[in-house]
Amino acid sequence: MTQLPNFIQKNDDGMWLVEDEENMMKISYRIDEIVYQKQSPFQHVMVVQSPNFGRMLVLDGIVQTTSLDGHIYNEMITHVPLTIHPNPKRVLIIGGGDCGAAREVTKYKEVEEIDMVEIDALVVEACKLHLTDVSGNLSDPRVNFIFADGIEYIKAKKDYYDVVIIDSSDPIGPATQLFEKSFYNNVKEALKEDGLMVCQSQSPAFHMKVLHQTYRSIQELFPISKVYTAVVPTYPGGMWSFTLGSKKYSEVDLSKLAADTKYVSPALLSQCFALPAFLQKALAE
Ligand code: SAM
Repeated sequence: MTQLPNFIQKNDDGMWLVEDEENMMKISYRIDEIVYQKQSPFQHVMVVQSPNFGRMLVLDGIVQTTSLDGHIYNEMITHVPLTIHPNPKRVLIIGGGDCGAAREVTKYKEVEEIDMVEIDALVVEACKLHLTDVSGNLSDPRVNFIFADGIEYIKAKKDYYDVVIIDSSDPIGPATQLFEKSFYNNVKEALKEDGLMVCQSQSPAFHMKVLHQTYRSIQELFPISKVYTAVVPTYPGGMWSFTLGSKKYSEVDLSKLAADTKYVSPALLSQCFALPAFLQKALAE
């Protein structure tokens, strides 16, 4: 029998996934079944079935995305940049192994090339097989899967992409450098002269230092920098942030929004950069 990792606990009350949030709090999810688990060279990759969240992708014990709310994060990290850039032809996704961001990008007919640079092929394998609510069983020929370290990949690209989406895991392990200014500078160089980037920048409630640092780095590198948020129930605290860095464009074009979205609506998109007062104040400091 495969040994259970220490974040899966079985007791009289059933089986639980216990997510340890940096020793600050523990979030427990009831689970019915472990559908997939393998150790990759980078992390422990697991898909579980839960009664409330459906399928959940769990990397090193941390929930990444679920059937219940994966679309919220994936729509927000893609439709905002793709409705701001007037003519996105080449899109790069760094990370994004659950394939949900790539799936959203395919909704834009003008996009000709979608490069997805994911460090861990096992995440893609697990999600294509067992998390189709999020991955959508992606087979669009415009998507090129490149299994490589995004930090190294970006260094060789100059003046190439219209939009870069950094869909990374938390700033630990292989994703640590994806939150550093030197990396964002390489992203800037990989973008065309009117290109733009967006990254996930963690929780405004619990990771303000990471968000502040990310925003500051991007503000120093790009003429336009903006933060927006979304409510993603499975992320600690619910509220999650995204940071945009743009060389030229800053306004969303509501008429460009893809038709089949579940979370992003024209009304939401038109107000997406409206921030709560506490966050506005914290970012100004
Ligand atoms: N939506 C999720 C969240 O915010 O929790 C993250 C989505 S996705 C699962 C994150 C992916 O980033 C993982 O599959 C991980 O393997 C990948 N990743 C981490 N570091 C990376 C790197 N240096 N280069 C490319 N991909 C990386």
